[in-house]
Amino acid sequence: MVATGTAGLDDIRTRGGAREGVAGGSAVYGALAGARFTPTGIAATVGEDFPPEEEAGLRRAGVDLAGWRKVAGARSFRWSGAYGEDGESRVTLGTELNVLASEGVRVPEAWRGARSVFLGAMDPVRQGEVLRQFGEEKPFALLDTMGMWIREKRAELEEVAARCDAVTANAEEAAEWTGEAEAGRAAEALRRMGGGRWRWVVVKDGGRGAWLAGEGTLWREPAAAQRAGGLVDPTGAGDSFGGAFLGALTALNGLGEGGEAEARLAMRLAAETAARTCGGFGTEGLKETAR
Ligand code: AMP
Repeated sequence: MVATGTAGLDDIRTRGGAREGVAGGSAVYGALAGARFTPTGIAATVGEDFPPEEEAGLRRAGVDLAGWRKVAGARSFRWSGAYGEDGESRVTLGTELNVLASEGVRVPEAWRGARSVFLGAMDPVRQGEVLRQFGEEKPFALLDTMGMWIREKRAELEEVAARCDAVTANAEEAAEWTGEAEAGRAAEALRRMGGGRWRWVVVKDGGRGAWLAGEGTLWREPAAAQRAGGLVDPTGAGDSFGGAFLGALTALNGLGEGGEAEARLAMRLAAETAARTCGGFGTEGLKETAR
């Protein structure tokens, strides 16, 4: 599996404390989660401020960094967010594209035959560029997105989504996309919007679980139990869910026609992976148990 999206530094405030410059981004969480289940490479572009020890951490977790680009003189993508008292609701305080404003993501030649690609949230134009680099032998593509892209680049998002095999979003984002406030209904509405083009639509709803919508089927996967320390930081839970779902589906040979049993099992494994992410700040919870 190839994981792409953003990689950068996050400033996170939770009810338990605040941390600055924590490594994160949709590609980083997606890759760490995917690597729990199937050989995974990361294709992402960062600036020179991205900490080398975090790159080493990805490597230790078994992630192939052949698609990792570090641009001299540039700053990494940076995001800051704060969580409410419920530990889950979040406001974005700032998003700086930095290096991603001018630089794209490169997929190494050797990865062209990959079986699956996780298009983690980033500018949909960049997601489209990644997909094009696979050429004719396009892998099974799962697209994830965030509110910012639905609001600012909807036409571009729908253009790249139309070339994907599955889409995922969190409940709030899916509501913005479809106008359906309830997560299960939004999953069905998204599938209808895709005109049956997407094998799976996954709508993540935090502690309330996640929905899987497919041809004639709608399934709710409850959230997995938190480990002893409880909910520490949910940043990246959605990206981890997406990366784990696709990584598990790849490992289970569930990418072809049908594959409903495999998709349900992948939902279970994804929920469990997302719960691990919530158990530590940034990628700590996920890295502890990457393999
Ligand atoms: P999640 O908690 O799963 O929604 O993902 C949070 C991660 O997404 C953080 O590590 C951020 O760096 C990254 N992120 C935040 N906003 C965006 C955005 N607009 N596009 C792509 N990635 C983002």
